[in-house]
Amino acid sequence: MAPEAAPPDPRRAVVEAGQVLADHGHADLVWGHVSLRDEDGRGLWLKRPGLGFDEVLEDDVQLLDLDGDVVEGDGPPHLERFIHTEVLRARPDVACVVHTHPEAATTLASTGLPLRPVAHEATLFVPPDIARFVETGDLIRTPELGAAVAEALGERNALLLVNHGVVVVGSSVPEAVFAAVLLEKACRMQLMALSAAGGDLRVSDDTEALAKRARCYSSVQMHHGWDYLRRRNDRRRR
Ligand SMILES: [Zn+2]
Repeated sequence: MAPEAAPPDPRRAVVEAGQVLADHGHADLVWGHVSLRDEDGRGLWLKRPGLGFDEVLEDDVQLLDLDGDVVEGDGPPHLERFIHTEVLRARPDVACVVHTHPEAATTLASTGLPLRPVAHEATLFVPPDIARFVETGDLIRTPELGAAVAEALGERNALLLVNHGVVVVGSSVPEAVFAAVLLEKACRMQLMALSAAGGDLRVSDDTEALAKRARCYSSVQMHHGWDYLRRRNDRRRR
């Protein structure tokens, strides 16, 4: 009998997720992070501070408990780790949390305009309009602020931190990272459409948007999309 495949290494998964995010509009120097829930219930895996997504190695990934303290790994943890700890605490269905400062999503959030389905991508998030956190545009540096972010996210898959960035979640790395890539693309296309046509856009209505969500972004489709992103990432880093 063939031996069972080894379980995926969470450190490797965090490194790979960051590389894909960096290549799809989510790089912001050394800021932004992606976490993966520990399968043994010890907390979450997150890179250490001071490194860009594209330079993180497996030894740079720490294990934090849900209070945000480092259990394994070197150095201090990220200031904004409470986004991850509190979202994972509030959402048992979530295994992966992305927090980044992507330019198009952050710019669109500052306009106060609703996210609209210019093409397929936004239908993963709307209707109803995407969730927003407006309590502060400053860093999420306490457990209380992290809990407020988790409350604003609710049961949704994405949240705009207005004047700051985004939070995107999923039941796995593929779901969360693929959704984060789509969110930034959706916002960039809407900004392009607005710059060309002002506010007068032709977009999918709610019925069409929901039908497209089911057709374009089933779990199978999203995993196919993620598999492509992984293959592309492997080719680029060979
Ligand atoms: Zn941030």
